[in-house]
Amino acid sequence: MHEFGLCASVVDAVQRRAGDRPVASVRVRVGRLHHVHPEAWDQSFTVAAMGTVAADATADLVLLPVRALCGACGATWEADDVPPACPSCSSGDVEAAGGDELVLESITYR
Ligand SMILES: [Zn+2]
Repeated sequence: MHEFGLCASVVDAVQRRAGDRPVASVRVRVGRLHHVHPEAWDQSFTVAAMGTVAADATADLVLLPVRALCGACGATWEADDVPPACPSCSSGDVEAAGGDELVLESITYR
């Protein structure tokens, strides 16, 4: 489960920010390129947070799409993955941005 590595990073960030304060929940923005499965995410977070201030906290997942721009026709759209071609004009001249985020957005304390 690669979700575990992501959750371990998030728990590290939570510990740095929270100090000794017990955490009720966190909100994390994750790009779709990480291919996170919500169930695996919840399980991984529970395991990664064991024995830390985030033990028993919930981790709300906000999935961020890949943003794509077609260099040929100028179309922009959002996708789950890096798009191979433009859906409007079929050009392969596509630039993609985002989708690889892993950001601890907020922490709610008990
Ligand atoms: Zn296009």
